[in-house]
Amino acid sequence: MKILITDPVHEDGIERLKSAGFQVDLAYDITYDELVKRVKDYHGLVVRSRTKVDRAVIASAPNLLFIGRAGVGLDNIDLEAAKERNIIVLNSPEAPTISVAELVFGLLLSLARKIAFCDRLMKAGEWPKKRALGFELKGKTLGIIGLGRIGREVAKRAEAFEMKVLYYDVQRLPEEMEKSLKVQFVELTELLKSSDIVTVHVPLIPQTYHMIDDAKLSLMRKGSILINTSRGGVIDTKALLKHLKNGHLGGACLDVFEHEPPKEPWELELISLDNVVVTSHIGAMTVEAQRAASTILAEKIISTFKGKTL
Ligand code: NAD
Repeated sequence: MKILITDPVHEDGIERLKSAGFQVDLAYDITYDELVKRVKDYHGLVVRSRTKVDRAVIASAPNLLFIGRAGVGLDNIDLEAAKERNIIVLNSPEAPTISVAELVFGLLLSLARKIAFCDRLMKAGEWPKKRALGFELKGKTLGIIGLGRIGREVAKRAEAFEMKVLYYDVQRLPEEMEKSLKVQFVELTELLKSSDIVTVHVPLIPQTYHMIDDAKLSLMRKGSILINTSRGGVIDTKALLKHLKNGHLGGACLDVFEHEPPKEPWELELISLDNVVVTSHIGAMTVEAQRAASTILAEKIISTFKGKTL
């Protein structure tokens, strides 16, 4: 089986495919027109987010059996066209789970202990000790919205900080799992009213677009903190800016934005606030997550096609 890889993926996954007997060709700089010409010779195509696998690419690939996406998003792949041809689409959304969960605490501690704030001011020659009064995580209530892969890892780490964990999800976990994770299910309204810190881990789908809007933000405790490492569109950013500026919310930690990079005046104002800690969508940007994106995908390809004859 011949596989063409058109975006850089970690070499461990490539080696795994080769050792399982696949012929792997790398073409990281391939243009769209070259891909349309070349793809006909391959049974598998592996991409990240750069390569556009549209209907025309799929139509030019009579031998294609699968499209692999090393990572999460499938926006660059025409799923409908792939389905019509029974082409299997595989990805590795599990890969960044731990990295995102760790980032949540990185952002939260940075805000709670004013780490980014002190760093910025000291580099500008100041000594901001008196303006750096923070708070401990111990004893605080953390509300997790969406207790999937990432939400659960956040819950596990919250235990180490001696936090109380509430969660809301459209699918409630079995009781034994709630017990072992030490989490308590509550409705969304209750979660927002009862949490000192709220962290969002739902996918961006029509039902979750602006799920945390002005009305939901109004329910949050005075001085509470909102963390978003899911997708920018889940939160109404203009409303968030309002609640931060009028002093209702105590702060926000954001890795994802409605526009990436942020460009609207209200987004730029939001990220300039001292009580807002931001990162540039780096949830999956660790050596481990990048490696896992490639090795998990390789294992899925191998288990799907192992022993199958062409
Ligand atoms: P997951 O599918 O494992 O979990 C999502 C959870 O959300 C599920 O338990 C689901 O039941 C729940 N959910 C869905 N709709 C809901 C709703 N309307 N209300 C409440 N709960 C709802 O996903 P995951 O791997 O944990 O990822 C979560 C989010 O993190 C996704 O948006 C993903 O895109 C994002 N993510 C961000 C980065 C980053 O770089 N910052 C990296 C990876 C993933």
